[in-house]
Amino acid sequence: MELKICHLYPDVLNLYGDSGNIRCLQKRLLWRGMGAEVTKMPLGTRTSLAGYDIVFIGGGQDFEQQVLLEDLHRGRDSEIRAAALDGVVFLTICGGYQMMGHYYETFDGQRCDFIGALDLYTVGAKKRMIGNYKFRCTDSAGGSVVVGFENHSGRTVLGSALEPLGKVLTGFGNNGEDGTEGAHWKNVFGTYSHGPMLPKNPQFCDMLLLTALERKYGRAELAPLDDAAELAAHDEMCARL
Ligand code: GLN
Repeated sequence: MELKICHLYPDVLNLYGDSGNIRCLQKRLLWRGMGAEVTKMPLGTRTSLAGYDIVFIGGGQDFEQQVLLEDLHRGRDSEIRAAALDGVVFLTICGGYQMMGHYYETFDGQRCDFIGALDLYTVGAKKRMIGNYKFRCTDSAGGSVVVGFENHSGRTVLGSALEPLGKVLTGFGNNGEDGTEGAHWKNVFGTYSHGPMLPKNPQFCDMLLLTALERKYGRAELAPLDDAAELAAHDEMCARL
């Protein structure tokens, strides 16, 4: 079994070790004797998104989010919407997560019209939401407790029918007010969790891999790995928070 992974906009959306998520996805497949083919698609890439099993989009500052708009609206936006509708697994972090929504209006009033693949919008506030945090995923997203690092000015508001990815246990999450964190629709997962997120949260990583493998092959199993070191780090951070 093999998964094709696309790292979209690695040149502009990649903060706080976000690309470590790609290595984690890749390694956890290789350790189980499975294949992982990773393709980077920086700005200006004209090849299609078709055929990818997982698409990863990292975070970025307001400036980078504005820089990518032209490329995004040259057709990448409709491709992303179509892939999301088709059940492709997306992991989108912070600026990448905001990009999946309708728009982001920065604190100084610059409006970025995004994709609308997820029914959400984001508005920047003066006070940034920064720090290590944790949240519990909904049952449909595996139910695990995720630890991560958030740093955003944007406050994200979900449409009434859009499920959050989880519930904040400590920290800010989507907006610091309603207790929600991230969003989950079909196989699209959006979160504010940098870190990189996946090495710190192996259960969440395996949930993504299994979702992608089952979609591609109908049935799949993931042999257990020795996650003692990862889980010790995870539990230590949970306890500190
Ligand atoms: N620029 C966005 C914000 O501040 C996203 C930041 C990020 O990706 N860390 O909300």
